[in-house]
Amino acid sequence: MRVAIIGGGISGLSAAFRLEQARRGGPDLRYTLFEASDRLGGVMRTERVEGCLIEAGPDSFLSEKQSAAELCRELGIADQLVGSNDAHRRTYILVKGRLVEMPDGLQFMVPTKLWPTITTPLFSFGTKLRMAREFFASPHTANGDESAAAFVERHFGAEVVDRLADPLLAGVYGGSAERLSVRAVLPRFLDMEARYGSLSRAMLAAMKSRPPAANGPRPIFTSMKDGMQQLVDAVVAQLDPDAIRTGTRVKALGRETSQWIVLPDEPASNIETQLAASQRRSKLRLYEEFDRIIVATPAYIAAGLLRSVEPHLASLLGETNYSSSVTVALGYAAAGFDGRGAKQDDGFGFLVPRSEGKRLLACTFVHNKFPHRAPEDRLLLRVFLGGSHDPGVLQIPNEEILRIVRVELRQILGLTAEPLFSRIYRWERSMAQYEVGHLERVAEFERLRSGLPGLALAGNAYRGIGVPDCIKSGLDAAAEALRS
Ligand SMILES: Cc1cc2nc3c(=O)[nH]c(=O)nc-3n(C[C@H](O)[C@H](O)[C@H](O)COP(=O)(O)OP(=O)(O)OC[C@H]3O[C@@H](n4cnc5c(N)ncnc54)[C@H](O)[C@@H]3O)c2cc1C
Repeated sequence: MRVAIIGGGISGLSAAFRLEQARRGGPDLRYTLFEASDRLGGVMRTERVEGCLIEAGPDSFLSEKQSAAELCRELGIADQLVGSNDAHRRTYILVKGRLVEMPDGLQFMVPTKLWPTITTPLFSFGTKLRMAREFFASPHTANGDESAAAFVERHFGAEVVDRLADPLLAGVYGGSAERLSVRAVLPRFLDMEARYGSLSRAMLAAMKSRPPAANGPRPIFTSMKDGMQQLVDAVVAQLDPDAIRTGTRVKALGRETSQWIVLPDEPASNIETQLAASQRRSKLRLYEEFDRIIVATPAYIAAGLLRSVEPHLASLLGETNYSSSVTVALGYAAAGFDGRGAKQDDGFGFLVPRSEGKRLLACTFVHNKFPHRAPEDRLLLRVFLGGSHDPGVLQIPNEEILRIVRVELRQILGLTAEPLFSRIYRWERSMAQYEVGHLERVAEFERLRSGLPGLALAGNAYRGIGVPDCIKSGLDAAAEALRS
């Protein structure tokens, strides 16, 4: 059996890893991973600059989602997992130009502790009253999908949407609470509402019933000692080098009887090698045949590839919106760091609600969030810009992005120090937007796909945007290819 994987981000790599394991167990399987760019890992990329570890894309994953840690165990690198420094886990929100600490007991956006909620300057008196009333809400089963904003507003009011839900969801999806589907992005909250009515009561009940972890509470985020690239490298090290074709963009897919046709845009050097091998030009094959195909690219690329195979599926996939983002890493000498406001030594960073009128969406104090990300005498900040409300940021030249970031960091943190270095990474159309009706659309993708035996879809456009979800999507796609 021959399997093609299109896309060498973590989704495609996870699929390749599972196929490689199967190949070692049985000689009848061959797979080829096509990756358009010259490197593997997609948005997962780590760099070291002046002793600092910089994540260009994801910096970690949620510890409670097991697929990533499980993959690390299979790869034999579980000892390289590192938990976030949760003793420093304070997050600030910018409110009217001032950084306000998120009150203790806030679970995502649900208050679970009375006194910190009463005393926090994060919410107005009206919102606090609303939170108190929410505690007595009756069970309610949602009728269809709605936006995350509408759902949160129903429970806690518009201020919580503006100051918490929107910035938190922008941090995860680069999207807006008004457009994201509550069923897709906050499914646990829907269950809580159906059972308890009040999210606060449900959260307290969940916390009470959770058995205490044997080794104390699990850190909320997990990363790799040498950064997320370490996971990519560990997967790649397990793969058959002959099965990997970097620098090879797939232009189109086709289907002939039960075979899948892959039309790769080979780099000239590969074609020359093939030509030399075949001696005669007539023998040169510009397409390849496979029994199974795993498309692990963003949905809009999958749409283009599948257009001539299944136009209806292609057009639905093409309707998936994506947001773009820019991450900027800035290294400072600890001695010269003159920030005030959120103390650089006691938090994970801050979020900026849209109502504050800034371009910055969030800033992470990297040196606090994970151990050994910066030498003792350095501080490392990472800021995020873009998202669905600011697609234009991608068009701004680097010097201007840096200027904007420094102006806003001065306004927010009072930080005037000159960074020792900076790095800017642009991620165009990288985050799928799970808009209202998303789960129905995914069910429709599945229905249409079932008419195309041998095709599997993986990636962040379907059942989860985070690294563990993408790993799971790749592993599941490989399992399906092996099963069918
Ligand atoms: C800035 C940023 C920060 C993030 N932070 C976090 C985080 O902290 N935690 C977390 O869990 N998640 C985070 N995410 C989300 C998560 O990292 C991604 O959803 C996930 O890594 C996507 O992996 P993927 O393999 O599906 O897609 P990608 O990484 O986008 O890989 C797709 C690959 O397909 C290739 N490709 C495209 N077209 C073709 C073609 N025609 N032929 C061949 N190859 C092609 C591309 O070159 C690319 O390598 C973040 C994402 C971004 C962008």
